[in-house]
Amino acid sequence: MSGFSLDLNEDQLQIQKWVHDFSETVIRPAGHEWDEREETPWSIIEEAAKVGLYSFDFISQAFFDESGLLMPIAAEEMSWGDAGIALAILGSTLGLAGIAANGTPEQLMEWGPQCFGTPDKIQLAAFAVSEPDAGSDVSSLRTRAVYDEATDEWVINGTKTWITNGGIADVHVVVASVDPDLSARGQASFIVPPGTKGLSQGQKFQKMGIRASHTAEVVLDDVRVPGHLLLGGKEHLDERLARAREGRRSSSQAAMKTFEASRPTVGAQALGIARAAYEYALEYAKERKAFGRAIIENQSIAFKLADMKTRIDASRLLIWRASWMGRNGKEFTSGEGSMSKLYAGETAVYVTEEAIQIMGGYGYIREHPVERWHRDSKIFTIFEGTSEIQRLIIARAISGVHVK
Ligand SMILES: Cc1cc2nc3c(=O)[nH]c(=O)nc-3n(C[C@H](O)[C@H](O)[C@H](O)COP(=O)(O)OP(=O)(O)OC[C@H]3O[C@@H](n4cnc5c(N)ncnc54)[C@H](O)[C@@H]3O)c2cc1C
Repeated sequence: MSGFSLDLNEDQLQIQKWVHDFSETVIRPAGHEWDEREETPWSIIEEAAKVGLYSFDFISQAFFDESGLLMPIAAEEMSWGDAGIALAILGSTLGLAGIAANGTPEQLMEWGPQCFGTPDKIQLAAFAVSEPDAGSDVSSLRTRAVYDEATDEWVINGTKTWITNGGIADVHVVVASVDPDLSARGQASFIVPPGTKGLSQGQKFQKMGIRASHTAEVVLDDVRVPGHLLLGGKEHLDERLARAREGRRSSSQAAMKTFEASRPTVGAQALGIARAAYEYALEYAKERKAFGRAIIENQSIAFKLADMKTRIDASRLLIWRASWMGRNGKEFTSGEGSMSKLYAGETAVYVTEEAIQIMGGYGYIREHPVERWHRDSKIFTIFEGTSEIQRLIIARAISGVHVK
């Protein structure tokens, strides 16, 4: 008998249903309101915390699921409800991923729970890499961290931009250069704890979509953090820098490690939007009459839906494969993590646009959610590595050529 199966186990099915029910009853009905308000939906995050969905425990359970599928399943269901609110709930997970990817187990156990707080005292986390002059090009970060030996503190200066939960987070995980001569290999990550002097929010951005998720600049002005808040510890950093100076291969860069781990989950968020729009358009196409028949009876409409569904299912398979590989320690030899995020992101943009087309004028107005879903979908070809950068990673992985 073959050991291969795509069936979810009982636990996974139960959690999928639990997240879906929350998404259907709490997230989806609130989507329009928070898109219009363009504010962090604290009340919804609180509800998610009360049921245990917004918690370190749940995210740990999802991360440790042996198949690796629990996290993308939960992300798909949340985003199916509303991608902006889903990101408001999941944003802290990126900060947590930054700690998990680069920190010691002790740092993870101390700071992981603080990324979420408790239902009575919600806390948020942020992962701050991007800068005004360093988005795709993570190697040119200008934010500097300098070690002050006298006080055993790191002093961080710089400006981060486009940061999810930036400035409103309790725990900021900041990637900074400790040795600019080494470019990306001279970077390290730091935890900046709640209330640290010198960290402030710059401008909050007004966005096209995912407007319930807070995106802002983070200004770091002589921010001092104790030595033990360097993720991975000083000894490990010194060894890594020494290897880099000698031109030897060192473990991958701080920011890249985090993004590799989180890409399939980001793809799953895009997938949730695509599925929502497909389901909505399918129902509509069966109901809507033109020329005396349901519009779905026209091949041009039915074929759109066939293509939409095919690409949605292909996205899910790529996401599940990458998640399973990541969890089971398989190396992404063909950029499989990037493939999943690339394909799901572009599918979400395509499916939501086709959904608008299927609905005609009704697709274009705010009475129906598909125009919002289309706006929400576009970010998935931009953040956590643009589509171009994902193609670059895949192209380099499959060819061994340093494609530019
Ligand atoms: C809503 C939102 C939330 C975000 N959240 C976070 C966050 O929490 N933390 C964080 O650190 N960052 C975050 N970001 C930043 C995001 O990751 C960057 O915007 C993204 O990486 C692209 O960087 P950039 O905007 O500087 O574009 P650029 O790097 O300037 O790219 C511009 C264009 O050039 C293309 N391009 C660049 N280099 C190449 C190349 N070598 N080959 C081919 N094409 C290329 C890009 O694909 C893109 O089309 C967020 C951004 C947004 C909009």
